[in-house]
Amino acid sequence: MMTDRKLHAHLTGSITLPIFQSIWQQRVDTEAGFDLPPPDQVLGNGAGQSVSTFFPLFNTYLYSLISSLPYLLTALQSVLETFQSDNVIYLELRTTPRSLRPHSASEVISAISQQIQEWNVSQLMWTGLILSIDRSKHSISEAWGILNLALDLRSRGYPIVGLDLGGNPIKGDVKIYREIFEAAKREGLGLTLHFGEIEGRDEEQSEMLSWEPDRLGHVIWVKEEMKRKLVEMDIGVEMCLSCNVLAGLLPPISTPIRNTKEMTVRSSANAEMDASAGNEYELEGLMKGDQDSFDVGNISAKEESSKMEEDDRQESYEAQYTSHHFGQWWFLPNSISINTDDLGIFHSISSSEHFLACKHFHLSRVDLVRLSRRALKGVFGPTEVVDLVERRLSEFEQEEGIPS
Ligand SMILES: [Zn+2]
Repeated sequence: MMTDRKLHAHLTGSITLPIFQSIWQQRVDTEAGFDLPPPDQVLGNGAGQSVSTFFPLFNTYLYSLISSLPYLLTALQSVLETFQSDNVIYLELRTTPRSLRPHSASEVISAISQQIQEWNVSQLMWTGLILSIDRSKHSISEAWGILNLALDLRSRGYPIVGLDLGGNPIKGDVKIYREIFEAAKREGLGLTLHFGEIEGRDEEQSEMLSWEPDRLGHVIWVKEEMKRKLVEMDIGVEMCLSCNVLAGLLPPISTPIRNTKEMTVRSSANAEMDASAGNEYELEGLMKGDQDSFDVGNISAKEESSKMEEDDRQESYEAQYTSHHFGQWWFLPNSISINTDDLGIFHSISSSEHFLACKHFHLSRVDLVRLSRRALKGVFGPTEVVDLVERRLSEFEQEEGIPS
């Protein structure tokens, strides 16, 4: 069993399709007039896997589906079970406070905290909660309210470990939250910020760095000078491979992607071959660039074209994984972790993300243990939990004969 820790995972984004589907079914069975479409129709075909569709999917559908506290707590339980069954032994889950009628946002977060606390007493995987401030939604006073809620819950013994800045990276002015994050730092909460998700935000990055965050998530569009600062300040980096690749957040790279013109040429060649064999087909549609009405034997040109597009997409994904900036950070000294971000959207559990790292960056079993130790260096949980995880990591090395 490979042990693992996960530091960047969003609660709602980590709910898997079967859980959404079962909540939807319960609501269909019990609520008259409930008319949301089923999740398996809404969440298929890469739904929400881009900056332009990700946030609307949450705001217009997922939050409407999980619109009561009992459903959210059911989903939370399933998220914890999903991570634990994937051999995660330390988890930091993050969530943005929101009210669920008749409960206020602070009542919702209190209930989540209590359930996590109960989980921690009885289960192998320890979980801490990070509260997120949404840069596209929260006013200064709302953000202060989130910090105060975090501090209040922590003072009452709940496992609140940090404060996050997230939300749509295109929106909002992060400067307005400076004093809040500085206060959180003084109070000893871990600070983690979504950072460098889009291009051309140098000034914003300098602003965020002045808050002295402990960790940064994604760290994609970061110039060399900024990277050097992150190394100097020993800031942990949270890498999210599948999210970055599938959401198209990475800088473009040259890949051998076939274009539509080339596909048309290939289809034309097939059509000519079939014409000489006497098959029936409609050439006119192709000549106009309309491949919908064009059939070659049992495989229509449309199907062939979409298969080629899929092949191209897979080829492009492979190239992007290989060029992911994990490959640079792996050789720098900072704390580094591999994360799922929103596994319900990107359909990749923790072990799959580690498999991708092994595959594309040739990590060995020794490297994976090193990676776990480097992630552990950046966690926000209490010392006794960190010590426990370290012991379990050492036991794992002994059991598996991995040199430490
Ligand atoms: Zn995130």
